[in-house]
Amino acid sequence: MRHVTVIGGGPAGSAAAITARQLGADVRLCEQSRFPRHKVCGEYLSPEVAPLLERLGAFDEFLARGPHRMTRLSLHFRRASKHSKLPEPAYGLSRHALDHLLIGHTENVVRERAQPERGMVVASGRPAAPSARAPRQFGFKAHFEGPSTDTIELFFFDGCYVGVNGVEGGVTNVCGLGPEDTLRRYGFAPDGLLESFAPLRDRTRPLRRSMDWLTTGPLDYGQRLEPDRDVYLAGDALSFVDPYTGSGMLAGMLSGISAGRSAALGEPPVVHYRRCAGLLRRAYLVSSLFRFMIRSGAADALIGLVPGRWLVSWTRPARLR
Ligand SMILES: Cc1cc2nc3c(=O)[nH]c(=O)nc-3n(C[C@H](O)[C@H](O)[C@H](O)COP(=O)(O)OP(=O)(O)OC[C@H]3O[C@@H](n4cnc5c(N)ncnc54)[C@H](O)[C@@H]3O)c2cc1C
Repeated sequence: MRHVTVIGGGPAGSAAAITARQLGADVRLCEQSRFPRHKVCGEYLSPEVAPLLERLGAFDEFLARGPHRMTRLSLHFRRASKHSKLPEPAYGLSRHALDHLLIGHTENVVRERAQPERGMVVASGRPAAPSARAPRQFGFKAHFEGPSTDTIELFFFDGCYVGVNGVEGGVTNVCGLGPEDTLRRYGFAPDGLLESFAPLRDRTRPLRRSMDWLTTGPLDYGQRLEPDRDVYLAGDALSFVDPYTGSGMLAGMLSGISAGRSAALGEPPVVHYRRCAGLLRRAYLVSSLFRFMIRSGAADALIGLVPGRWLVSWTRPARLR
C-alpha cells in the first residue's frame, strides 16, 4: 500500500486526501489550524462544484448544511452596471462550514505545521508574498445579518473589488480586496470603504456586521503551471486565480483531486501538472485579462458588450473527466 502525506486541510488538501484514500493509499493529512475556522473568502461556489463534491462523497452533507442558492449576477462599475441570470444556480457556503465538512471526510488528520518533502502533496494555500509588487493587494471579509438576496453582487471601484452574497443561515458575506494605499485611507477597517461607493453603500446599509473583519495579504497572483517537480502542488499553492472569478475553491478541488490521484498511483508529478494545465490554463488566462481591464478602467466601457453568461463560463476551469 502506498503512503501519501498531504500538507494542508483546505479544499485542495482535503480533496487530495479523500481521492488518495479512495484509490487505496494510506493517507496522513497535516493541518496546522484547529477547525472549524473562518477564512477570508467570498464563499461563492459555482455549480460545477456539485459533481466534484459527489465524487468526494460529500455532496449530501454539503446540501444538508443549507447552502444559499444564487440565480442572478450583478456587476457594478463606476460608470456602468450589468445584471444577468446565472446559467445555473450557484451556492454560498461559509468556509467555516465547508472546510470543516471536507476535512471530516478525511482520515488520519494530524494537527501540525509540516515541511514539504519529496513525493508529498503540498496544498498549504497561497505562499506568503512579502515581496509582492506595489501596489500590494490585501483581502478582507466579514459576515452580516440582514436582508439576503438570490444575487451575487460584485462591485469594482478605485482598484478594489467587493463581493456581496448569501451563505447558509440567511447570513450575508461581504468580501473584497484592494490596494494597500486605498485600504490605509480607511485604517484597514473596510466599513469606510463600503460607504465610499454609492451602489455598495446602498446594498450594505440595511446589513449589520456580526463578526470582526478578517484580513489577509499581501496577495500574490502566482500562476505557475510548470512548478516544482519533486512534490504535487495543489490549490492556491499551485496557482492563485483572481478571487472575483469565484473559481478558487473549484480550481483547488480539481488540482487536489489530480494531486491525490497521482500521488496514490505513484505517477510522477509532471503527469499531475500536465493534467492541471489542461484544466486551468484558460481560466487563468481570461481572469488575468479581466484583471488588467478592471485595473486600466477598460472594463467600465466594455462590460456592456459582453454577455454575462460568457463572463461566468470563460473564467471556469475545464471539467474533470
Ligand atoms: C479576497 C478573496 C476572496 C475569494 N473569494 C472566493 C470565492 O468567492 N470563491 C472561491 O471559490 N474562491 C475564492 N477565493 C479563493 C479561495 O479562498 C482559495 O482559492 C482557496 O482557499 C484555495 O484552497 P486551498 O486548499 O488551496 O488553500 P487554503 O484554503 O488556504 O488551505 C490551506 C490550508 O493549509 C494549512 N497549512 C498551511 N501551511 C501549512 C503547513 N506548513 N502545515 C500544515 N498545514 C498548513 C492552512 O492552515 C490552511 O488550512 C478568494 C480568495 C480571496 C483572497
